[in-house]
Amino acid sequence: MTDPEFDYDLFTIGAGSGGVRASRLSSLMGARVAVAEEHRPGGTCVIRGCVPKKFMVYASGYGKAFKQAEGYGWRADSVSFDWPTFRDAMNAEVDRLSGIYSRNLANAGVELIHDRAELVGPHQIRLVKEDRIVTAKHILIATGGAPNKDWSLDGVEHAITSNELFHLRKLPEHIVIAGGGYIACEFAQVFAGLGVKTCLVYRRDTVLRGFDEDVRIAVHEGLKMSGVRVITGTVFEKITEDEKTGRKTVYLENGDELVDVDEVVFAIGRDPYTKGLGLETAGVELDEIGAVKLDEYSKTNIDHIYAVGDVTNRVNLTPVAIREGAAFADTVFGGKPRGYDHETIASAVFTQPPVGTVGLSEVEARKAYGRVDIYKTNFTPMKYMLTEARSRMMMKLVVRAEDQVVVGVHMVGDDSPEIIQAIGIAVKAGLTKDQFDATCAVHPTVAEELVTMREKWTPPELAAAE
Ligand code: NDP
Repeated sequence: MTDPEFDYDLFTIGAGSGGVRASRLSSLMGARVAVAEEHRPGGTCVIRGCVPKKFMVYASGYGKAFKQAEGYGWRADSVSFDWPTFRDAMNAEVDRLSGIYSRNLANAGVELIHDRAELVGPHQIRLVKEDRIVTAKHILIATGGAPNKDWSLDGVEHAITSNELFHLRKLPEHIVIAGGGYIACEFAQVFAGLGVKTCLVYRRDTVLRGFDEDVRIAVHEGLKMSGVRVITGTVFEKITEDEKTGRKTVYLENGDELVDVDEVVFAIGRDPYTKGLGLETAGVELDEIGAVKLDEYSKTNIDHIYAVGDVTNRVNLTPVAIREGAAFADTVFGGKPRGYDHETIASAVFTQPPVGTVGLSEVEARKAYGRVDIYKTNFTPMKYMLTEARSRMMMKLVVRAEDQVVVGVHMVGDDSPEIIQAIGIAVKAGLTKDQFDATCAVHPTVAEELVTMREKWTPPELAAAE
């Protein structure tokens, strides 16, 4: 396999989830591998995404938990939250995990190069700080994505992105977040739960576009129940900052002004991180938003250059990048060419309560199959019956009418991400509603509803026509 004409058999750019998995497996298969990382190993997920975000969700959730505990006889009279204590503990854990990524690479025999790498030819890579050129037989682009800002906005320099939220010097008193996607909804609830006055500004009417309608409504209502002020149908017009206090004023296109704001956050999507990588020099084709174009084996239009993870803008989730990285290693170095199947991937949104979802939304299923049966329920879980701080559970099964296969499951409520991981197996396996119902309930749980829903739900317009 080893070709003496090149310094390496594989050079990976980016030590995030996808790049690290691909590099380790390729090295274990006998390839000489180097991976370059301009920041710390771990990528978005570990350093500035899923991992620290989930710690923030946990931190935020305790506030409500203290109140709920009172319904069970506990007294929590003088609780308080100290941001620096939490922030430093969270970042220490992130440092530890990044160290594990480095060690795992070393243990697999991969050379980790702490430098920015750019392509300067089809097989040539320039290490920017070292100002050295190395060559590789295969190149893997695994540079991930980067958060967007509306760069044309007057005062954009006063706004931050999710990248900075994990390092704030102090907890803001008032935060304004732009966007209605995963990041905006998750962080709006994190900060509201930490007692911060929180406002979400979304340009359409209901957050989480692309998700099942019932999920969107439940999350939208959940945001409001958590105390988030949700302003819809408008966007930022201008941001100004008071030089003395550092406080900002956000002017909205609908004429509203949000004053005395400590932090303004853009959560308006992420772009593939391909700028300045030299991909044009190597002849690699990109799409209109800068994502690397690929075939089903994650190969670019150049025979020896591949890409995995968010930089490809397929399904931008950590476990998907990891699976794509493994498929790459099998294809190029394992003698087992295979693509990764991107169908029916379960995922979660860590709002409070969180979302768990797998398969098609009701709208997608009606479009794909015409007739579908819908089963849904919305209730207050037993845990909240003794508490004043309430939270609800929404569950929905989308069933293809012709063969009764469950093609989608959508949930909003406590533990939905944990439950959907297991339900994802059933949906991926193509099980039918009868097979769900043949499974005995686990009682008393919220998840038992998934195997006990009997009544079909008919949309009001169809019910009227019947
Ligand atoms: P999303 O693509 O989820 O959402 C972007 C939001 O910003 C949408 O509501 C969009 O509105 C809005 N928007 C886009 N452009 C503008 C603009 N110019 N002005 C105002 N609003 C705008 O992006 P996120 O940044 O939330 O997340 C990026 C990706 O990261 C996600 O797609 C996901 O793959 C990943 N992620 C996954 C998580 C998880 O699995 N739990 C958690 C966090 C991130 P509209 O609806 O109108 O398009």
